[in-house]
Amino acid sequence: MTPDVRDRAGRPARVEAGQTDDCPIPATSWDRALHLIGQADEVALACHVTPDGDALGSMLAVAFVLRSMGKRVVASFGDRQFAVPRLLRFLPGQDMLVPPDAYPAAPELMIVFDSSTFERLGVLGTNAAMARELVVVDHHPSNAGFGTLSLIDAQAAATAMLAEQLVYRLGGRLDRDIATCLYAGLVTDTGSFRYSSTTPAVHQMAARLVATGLRTDEIARELWDRSPFGYLKVLAGALDRVTLENGPAGGLVWTYVTRVDRAEHGLPYSELEGLIDIVRRTDEAEVAVVLKEDDQGDWQVSTRSKGSVDVAAVCTALGGGGHHNAAGYTSHDTAEETMAKFRHELRKVS
Ligand code: AMP
Ligand code: MN
Ligand code: MN
Repeated sequence: MTPDVRDRAGRPARVEAGQTDDCPIPATSWDRALHLIGQADEVALACHVTPDGDALGSMLAVAFVLRSMGKRVVASFGDRQFAVPRLLRFLPGQDMLVPPDAYPAAPELMIVFDSSTFERLGVLGTNAAMARELVVVDHHPSNAGFGTLSLIDAQAAATAMLAEQLVYRLGGRLDRDIATCLYAGLVTDTGSFRYSSTTPAVHQMAARLVATGLRTDEIARELWDRSPFGYLKVLAGALDRVTLENGPAGGLVWTYVTRVDRAEHGLPYSELEGLIDIVRRTDEAEVAVVLKEDDQGDWQVSTRSKGSVDVAAVCTALGGGGHHNAAGYTSHDTAEETMAKFRHELRKVS
């Protein structure tokens, strides 16, 4: 018996391999992507700075397929201090990564993943601007399409869902390496299948990936269940100064971690990714904010909403972007000024 599975619009959910619910990307765009890739000898791939599982996983999955097609592949992300975050070092395919200074200045064909703007590409934004063809594979609603070809689906739970489609359309076969990369993207962006973006198509994709024999327990442990000891110390400090205040749309809970705090415990910036998930659990708060000082001395601001506030609107107004319930931006102000401006923008959307 075929189960009666419905998508968000109440229509029967599609179950074909590599389909997202209601994918709005026209067939002509996919065809154009295949044509561009078919013609290129070398394909340059990039994802957003300080990559998460979705950014790096989507990029590496496509890199594997392109390499198996005989293409020269370079893959990178535009961090000044180029290093794969520790929690993503288990991903296969890292031999295909090159630092930004070894990246082609003006690629013939460049494909960028999980990035809503040139700025999100960091120092590789310049290379993207110089690329002859720039294909943008993304799921951020704020992405206006900054390339020569858009493969953008704002309904997709993860860029990995679009990367999976690209893998199939290129004639690639899901092997365990590719599936591991895609799975890292899918579990990261759905919060382990907890967020509202977790549709039937998400679980169907997960089933295809798990069927390759990947170790979901090991991946979960790498992503969420381990940290250096210093993280506990930095976490203790951040939680000690956490603040709960009345916001315009319910409680606002926030804290911060300076680079001095991190240096004291030898903690790299990328280890702070999970901190917002602890802060945002506060029952009394509708919005959660964590200010993380990076190695350049700028604040990377992570924001989360429980649903009634569009933090993407707030963060976009402050020069960043993201999704309705998870968004971010960069601030060059002091922590106090950063929070003052955040509260000001929050009032406007509440
Ligand atoms: P994070 O808090 O780093 O997990 O990011 C949450 C969401 O906000 C992700 O979807 C990011 O793509 C987006 N985001 C974070 N930082 C920025 C930024 N500086 N500019 C634009 N979008 C951002
Ligand atoms: Mn991302
Ligand atoms: Mn994503």
